Amino acid sequence: MDALQLELAKLRRDANLSQSIQDVDNIIAQLENARESIVSDRNSTSITLAKLQNPLKSGFDKVNDDLKKIHKGHSNYGKALDKHFPVKALPTEYDALASHPSLINRAIAMHFLREGQFQVATTFLDEALDNPPQPVPTPGTPNPSASESEDFTSLNVEELQAKFANMYEVLRELKNRNLHPAIEWARINSHELEKRGSNLEYELNQLQFVWLFQGPQVNGLPDDANNGVGGALRYARENFGSFQGRFQRHIQQLATGMAFKSNLKDSPYQRIFNTETVWDDVSASFTREFCTLMGRSADSPLYTAATAGVIALPTLIKLASIVKEKRTEWTTQNELPVEIPLPRSMIFHPIFVCPVSKEQTTEENPPMMMPCGHVIAKESLNRLGLRVGRFKCPYCPNESQPKDARELIM
Ligand SMILES: [Zn+2]
Repeated sequence: MDALQLELAKLRRDANLSQSIQDVDNIIAQLENARESIVSDRNSTSITLAKLQNPLKSGFDKVNDDLKKIHKGHSNYGKALDKHFPVKALPTEYDALASHPSLINRAIAMHFLREGQFQVATTFLDEALDNPPQPVPTPGTPNPSASESEDFTSLNVEELQAKFANMYEVLRELKNRNLHPAIEWARINSHELEKRGSNLEYELNQLQFVWLFQGPQVNGLPDDANNGVGGALRYARENFGSFQGRFQRHIQQLATGMAFKSNLKDSPYQRIFNTETVWDDVSASFTREFCTLMGRSADSPLYTAATAGVIALPTLIKLASIVKEKRTEWTTQNELPVEIPLPRSMIFHPIFVCPVSKEQTTEENPPMMMPCGHVIAKESLNRLGLRVGRFKCPYCPNESQPKDARELIM
């Protein structure tokens, strides 16, 4: 991997377009100058054009040289990649994605929109609509239905683009250490956020307070009554009113922390007043809440699916080779005979209602699977096991003990 990092650094150094862009800009400037002198003096046309010839040719040569370097960088990196990751055939007989090209295109377009690559998304959609992909039915997978291509065209690009553009605008301002657009968004959506139990609106306001508190030397804002300790206090008086119920403790900590102004670093309030990582955290929370209120996940589904796929691939390749060697077959549909451990962030939580207590499971009362494979909530399991130790599964004749059950992460 280190060797590959080295190659990547080389690629970054060599395959840099800035030199080519500068050289192209130079050519454009030369052409524009020539046009201006011709416009201002028609008689100078031939001499201006003659004078232009040599510089223009060397300009183009330079651009070509720049591009050669870039091509070389790319081809070297490609070779390094091939060397480190030799091509292996995928262990599938069928290309499952081939049966749903419209959905795949939709996911790709959606990904670009979510990444703020609006122009790329528009071009991609235009081209995909000009050349509608042809589904190739895949045995063993649900095959395309007529409605699928409609799904693709019904993607409301303008609306999505407008929303994500708004999100990126706010994120850009956060990057420039300007909280106002984010606070304004949170204020407008205050009710929805609170319903979700989100702290975002308060967190943004708290950061604004701390940011002002740190004063002009840190925040670079004008040194006036709206900045520094006085500005922060004023901000709190004007904006913290609605937070006093839910965030009283936090506000008290801010107030007490102010007393340590001269020595915050060594005070117990150091963490609250340290803004180093807070900006990134706040940006991440904002993205998450913004996407949630839009009814979207915080990460692009394509990104999640591709990453989960990359994590699962080695296991799947191994599984395929074992199945082939032993000439067995795995026939249960939509279920794998092996576990694929995924990071917590990629584990999503469907709802599970305990069939015994009829209660929805929670983190404190998670679903537990008994050795027979039946699942009930932890509290029901303990209640059943309490009296007799060993107990019969409520759904089948198997007997087990509570300690034999395993927690299910759903
Ligand atoms: Zn059972």
